[in-house]
Amino acid sequence: MAAAKFDTPKMREYPSIPALQPDATAHLKSFLAAPEHNTFLGFPGELVENWQEKAIEKMGDLLGKYRGLRVFMDACVKCGSCTDKCHYFQGTSDPKNMPVARQDLLRSVYRRYFTFAGKFFPGLVGARDLTREVLDEWYNYFHQCSQCRRCSVFCPYGIDTAEVSMAAREIMDSIGYGQKYCNEILGKVQKVGNNLGLPGPALEATLEEFAEEISDDTGCNVEIPLDREGVDVLLITPSADFFAEPHIDGLMGYAKVFHAAGISWTLSSYASEAANFSMFIGSYSNMKKVAERIRKAALDLGVKRIIVGECGHAWRVAYSFWNTLAGIGSGGDDPYAQQLQKQLDHSYPIPQHICEFTWDLIQQGKLKFDKSQNDHRVVTFHDSCNVARATRMGTEPGGQFDIPRNVIKAVCNNYVDMAPDTIREVTYCCGGGGGLLTDDLMELRVKGALPRMEALKKVIDEDKVNAMAAICAICKAQFTKIMPYYGIPMDTIVSLHQLVKDAIILPGQGEEEAEPAAEATE
Ligand code: SF4
Ligand code: SF4
Repeated sequence: MAAAKFDTPKMREYPSIPALQPDATAHLKSFLAAPEHNTFLGFPGELVENWQEKAIEKMGDLLGKYRGLRVFMDACVKCGSCTDKCHYFQGTSDPKNMPVARQDLLRSVYRRYFTFAGKFFPGLVGARDLTREVLDEWYNYFHQCSQCRRCSVFCPYGIDTAEVSMAAREIMDSIGYGQKYCNEILGKVQKVGNNLGLPGPALEATLEEFAEEISDDTGCNVEIPLDREGVDVLLITPSADFFAEPHIDGLMGYAKVFHAAGISWTLSSYASEAANFSMFIGSYSNMKKVAERIRKAALDLGVKRIIVGECGHAWRVAYSFWNTLAGIGSGGDDPYAQQLQKQLDHSYPIPQHICEFTWDLIQQGKLKFDKSQNDHRVVTFHDSCNVARATRMGTEPGGQFDIPRNVIKAVCNNYVDMAPDTIREVTYCCGGGGGLLTDDLMELRVKGALPRMEALKKVIDEDKVNAMAAICAICKAQFTKIMPYYGIPMDTIVSLHQLVKDAIILPGQGEEEAEPAAEATE
């Protein structure tokens, strides 16, 4: 690994409010999207000439369309409750990474152009003209927010900085000032079907290899089907599950669960991606196009159920938006939505999270485990932001926290939670969510991971934890990369279904070896 050009923050014994370092991360500017990335998504290729006028016009549109945004712009009383709750502020000490200050970057411009006081007495109400300097500040600091929503949990008015950040990015895209990482990926998923740009034949070959590996290990003929028509389940999973560690082990875990339960399933090469980065840039039209690929795949394959693999923001998009975007499960009044609703089996949740699916099978006694296979591990669980604060699983309040933990405890003997103020609804972001998982933001990613690394280190030292399970592709990729900066081995991060994979006993597994011995005694 090349030497870092920044210092990794020192872990604190007790979390404390950092001494302010103004503009500490003002230099961090994520790469701009190339014109072809922008135009493919329907945005201007480059910053338009009359960008200021267009940006204010777009802001007006959004204020009219999203009532919450106007409330968020007006409601803040500067109580200070959110100021120290952002992991990026804690890790960078830059006061502009305080959630309230981040909101103020947009709020100051809102006041200038959309309030009486701001139009006539700008200096009195902190109103600012939208200058090029302000636009660049927007770009830099709205790409230092992972849209994790932790700050909103502490705001007495429920102001959601993630929504403010999404609106700011939507405005910037509308004037040709988009971010490379998100926009390039969104092009790939719409052209090829996944964020990697991995074509169908390559995907098929990869899946065959994984299936062979499982079959060699278990002696059972486990398949990872692709584009198989007429099966029960379409699994939509992040494409990281097809190539990255520890994601691959999670995919093999899903395959074993389907096999053990005797439920037919398939992946789709046309919709081989659960991730939908359109949410990060606030683009409803692109979010809809990506979701419609999944609807088309479900219709073409004739499946009865749709299950979503381990991906945090994808689960949020599926759980909260698939119905209105594409009529998956409910909603939507176009013929395709109605056809899909008739086709799907409504006795199951639509969509369903893979953890809900596995937990349901465990409760029904349909899966067998040898928990001792995980005895070399002491496991903890990292709640991913979008799952924790924007979705639910199962039918009980808090299911999104309890169900993943229940599955882990069903397959592992040794489990401990991290400190209560760092998990469940107040979980800390991994530091790489919201479209920030790019190497040009490595400094931010390392620094923003500080609170999670501190909480993890504590259970490593006190409880001998050596595995942290996660159910988000971004979290897993981020932790793999940044853990070594904190002296924590990268393989400490594991997929939740990797733990399932290692403990599950497939029907007939081990019988082949047992048979000759039985014959010999006859
Ligand atoms: S990164 Fe999370 S805590 Fe920080 S400002 Fe954004 S939404 Fe709030
Ligand atoms: S907690 Fe809410 S009201 Fe208080 S400063 Fe933060 S955003 Fe404003």
